[in-house]
Amino acid sequence: MDASVKTCALTAAARFAPGACARLVIKIGSSLLVEAGGEVRRDWLAGVVADIAARRVAGQEIVIVSSGAIALGAKRLKLDKGGRASLEDAQAAAAVGQVALSAVWEALLAGAGMTMAQVLLTLGDLEDRRRYLNVSATLDRLLALGAVPVLNENDTVATSEIRFGDNDRLAARAAQAAGAQGVILLSDVDGLYTANPARDPAATLIPEVLKLTPAIEAMADGGSGSGLGSGGMAAKLAAAKIAGPAGIHLAIADGRVARPLRTFAETGRGTVFVAGEGARAKKAWLAGRLTVHGTLTVDAGAAAALQRGKSLLAAGVTGVEGTFSRGDVVAIAGPDGVMARGLSAYDAGDAGLIKGLRNDVQAAALGYAPRAAMVHADHLVLL
Ligand code: GLU
Repeated sequence: MDASVKTCALTAAARFAPGACARLVIKIGSSLLVEAGGEVRRDWLAGVVADIAARRVAGQEIVIVSSGAIALGAKRLKLDKGGRASLEDAQAAAAVGQVALSAVWEALLAGAGMTMAQVLLTLGDLEDRRRYLNVSATLDRLLALGAVPVLNENDTVATSEIRFGDNDRLAARAAQAAGAQGVILLSDVDGLYTANPARDPAATLIPEVLKLTPAIEAMADGGSGSGLGSGGMAAKLAAAKIAGPAGIHLAIADGRVARPLRTFAETGRGTVFVAGEGARAKKAWLAGRLTVHGTLTVDAGAAAALQRGKSLLAAGVTGVEGTFSRGDVVAIAGPDGVMARGLSAYDAGDAGLIKGLRNDVQAAALGYAPRAAMVHADHLVLL
């Protein structure tokens, strides 16, 4: 085991305790929620709700990310492959299944004295800064009012290019929006192993990951074990990569047991990805985005200046690609490849007009007074 992993499981799990984590996101995978026959595992879910109730009593605010709409809808519509044979099937299944999913959550949470709030999100809701701030404010308000938000991707309207497709990354992004300190992914595996345990009997569970190195990433392979969800270990690592830089700890914990949250707190069995210091909120949001609208290519001098924390000036830009508006997120590529991401101060057309130009000659090219930089340092994050 290398220095990027540690083995103190209970200390790791304590990061998600009510005293340490005021706001927690709990994600529940399809294979836990829905049995192979397509019905909700109600008794098990009631145990999860009892765990949530206990945490709320202890003062922790909870946001739930619940999968299962597609799996539940597939059964009702008699679709094969769990409703995942095509995007159209998944969209139809989600429309039907989400109603059933909500009904179960509503009944169980109400039974434990809690008020459920349904929030269906698309990727765009969290990628567009204005809509992201909106989601953030809504979640804040719901939590302040004592409701328990239950989130899912709005699969019915999300098309392939603009969807998360897995709730692991959605949970990490939602945790950012909610200002949470932790995310627990309840899963049908008990954590990250040194290799796929189904194939390698010598594989061992890693309790704590301090740094997500390429060696750790190589331990994950894609795909859901059950075939019901779409997550898999690769999606969970991608979620950890979004959460960590935002200062949010992320755990993969075994959901196959009764009372899984209590069990995780008591045994620490699982894998905890320990967050870094936490970038400033806006930079973390930028770094966690999954889509960019274009690319600015920069010369070696500009790349070096960016590494030193400077803004990107038009003079150092050698190429402008893509269609973007002022304020859109663009990738910034240096001689060694994509190195940063930022909000462009110009649309693609104007960026093209002034690329390579010093500030004093930009006004003539633009027909208006230029802005201080193509991408200001405050709106830029190095990758
Ligand atoms: N949003 C999907 C559903 O509700 C689940 C996505 C996933 O498997 O992570 O069925």
